[in-house]
Amino acid sequence: MSQKHDVLLEVQNLKKYFHVSKGFGRSGKLKAVDDVSFQIFKGETFGLVGESGCGKTTIGRTIARLYKPTAGQILINGNDIAHLHQRQLQPYRRKMQVIFQDPYASLNPRMTVGDIIGEPLDIHKIAQGDARQKRIYELLDQVGLTKEHANRFPHEFSGGQRQRIGIARALALEPELIICDEPISALDVSIQAQVINLLEDLQREKGLTYLFIAHDLSMVQHISHRIGVMYLGHLVELADSRTLYDEPLHPYTQALLSAIPVPDPDETARRKRIILEGDVPTPIDPPAGCPFESRCPYVMPACREVRPVMTESKPGHFVACHLVNPVLVTLAQA
Ligand code: SF4
Repeated sequence: MSQKHDVLLEVQNLKKYFHVSKGFGRSGKLKAVDDVSFQIFKGETFGLVGESGCGKTTIGRTIARLYKPTAGQILINGNDIAHLHQRQLQPYRRKMQVIFQDPYASLNPRMTVGDIIGEPLDIHKIAQGDARQKRIYELLDQVGLTKEHANRFPHEFSGGQRQRIGIARALALEPELIICDEPISALDVSIQAQVINLLEDLQREKGLTYLFIAHDLSMVQHISHRIGVMYLGHLVELADSRTLYDEPLHPYTQALLSAIPVPDPDETARRKRIILEGDVPTPIDPPAGCPFESRCPYVMPACREVRPVMTESKPGHFVACHLVNPVLVTLAQA
């Protein structure tokens, strides 16, 4: 990772709302991402974790501009792409690629692997003829496949190999940022480590930056330099990987971490599993105060009234919780 911590991507107050039907002719807004801000430094892996439906995949797709943001800024090397039109986005699409969760669904079954990997080269008019073929073979080699694989179709490959094809396609345009949207969730455990090792090797060789989206906290810890924890469309904690796992401050992060199995029996005996009770609120009608108040074991009256904001509690460790930042509770009760 860059020693100077140059910022590659900065997301500021990002919101993504979807219009949904509430029945009986009424409509509402599903607040999938609600006022999220963070930075990703050049050469780092930034993990984004949370339960299914917390908004982490929507953030990834909004940053990649597969979704149009409702509000906020998405700065790539300082340039805001949040509200650019499709044609204006073209140069930024080269810098930013996505690896999807389901490698089979994301590969066109009627195209050969060579054409799948070559498609971005065609769209961006990067290479033709022999140069195109040579580049496809290079990319196959970089992800541990061979040039013989170029003439085969996706159904002829295993899940792990198909994810390698997805990675080769993502690398074709030499991007700076790769958004990895649960890239190993659909793979067997034995294959997951191989794909992670490949991503780490490629990062070292090419200085790539990753936004790594996952619900599997143990894998995110392994690969990420820093981690953001999401709950109900909000970022609730952000810290470097070691700090987040050793000293989690937000009650939701503490509960998530307590559920990770550890190989050491003494450590297992020491750890207390936190079982969350209460219902997960709907993002169509989220709580006015803390998004976690309906399940938090430490909830206070102020939590139901005032939304906690992300505050730096120690250098580089941010958390949105009235327990950690009690001055907000005082204000709420005044
Ligand atoms: Fe729990 Fe209140 Fe902190 Fe929210 S703000 S996590 S409800 S203590």
